[in-house]
Amino acid sequence: MSFSGTTKQRLTDVLPGRKCCRAALLYGMLQGGRGFSVREMAIQTEYSEVAALYTSLLDEVCGVRTLTEKGVFTIVSVRTDDRAKVLAFFGHTPQELSVRLSRANFHCDDCTAAYLRGLFLSCGAVSNPETDYHLEFNVPSLTLSRDVLSLWEELGYDAKSIRRKGDNVIYFKDSTVIEECLTLMGASASALELMQIKMFKDLRNRTNRAANCDMANLSKVVAAGEEHRRALEVIRTHGGFASLPDDLQELAQLRWDNPQISLRDLGELLDPPLTRSGVNHRLKRICDIATRMKAEDAALRT
Ligand SMILES: [Zn+2]
Repeated sequence: MSFSGTTKQRLTDVLPGRKCCRAALLYGMLQGGRGFSVREMAIQTEYSEVAALYTSLLDEVCGVRTLTEKGVFTIVSVRTDDRAKVLAFFGHTPQELSVRLSRANFHCDDCTAAYLRGLFLSCGAVSNPETDYHLEFNVPSLTLSRDVLSLWEELGYDAKSIRRKGDNVIYFKDSTVIEECLTLMGASASALELMQIKMFKDLRNRTNRAANCDMANLSKVVAAGEEHRRALEVIRTHGGFASLPDDLQELAQLRWDNPQISLRDLGELLDPPLTRSGVNHRLKRICDIATRMKAEDAALRT
């Protein structure tokens, strides 16, 4: 099951203890559903747990029965004459032209979170954190989406909004904010899972970066080794290492014997040992001597 699906299942698992919060939860599910008017009132969901919660809350809170249509998705709708009853319960009238959020339905401190949970269950989604950090509410009406945006703002969260193919999408992209939203709505297990996946991803990225860095260093060592070997070959055919200045002879032989080790390791083999930059300086002088020898060869041939 998708991360979104698992999160929704978790959100249907434990119901709010207070009656006011259960009503707020239903209110969110209704407003995020397909239609919140006297003409249409339904939710469309692929999760049977969400459909079951909608059905049982409507019965418990409003005393209203539902009709279920099963297709690719389960659609649970309210009977014609019951829609006005549901609207009235939440303080709305059939004459209202646009769907608005009525704060009068929030009676305790936890009602807001319960409402957002309901809204997420019917019109929310959250991406798998392995691929993306994204949590959204695809709110069915523009006026309602503005009310929901201000609600998030009041809670201290800066949500983004966008009109997408006629839909009103409110979304979050920041992984830490998404964790907090999931926790607020009651899906702390999903928040924890997101946090763990994020930690693993960060660790994996760091390990990859370190491995890439090691590879780059290794190629540098190999390239330097080859350059030195070419220079030493020239010197060997022009009088050998004994023809070099005294302080370069031991290093030339050591480098010839150890073409693939780092300059630091090479320095430690010398007697007395030499620092990396000291080794680098002397090898440069060896390369310069070889270059001069080759240039003299070329001058003689012309
Ligand atoms: Zn409450």
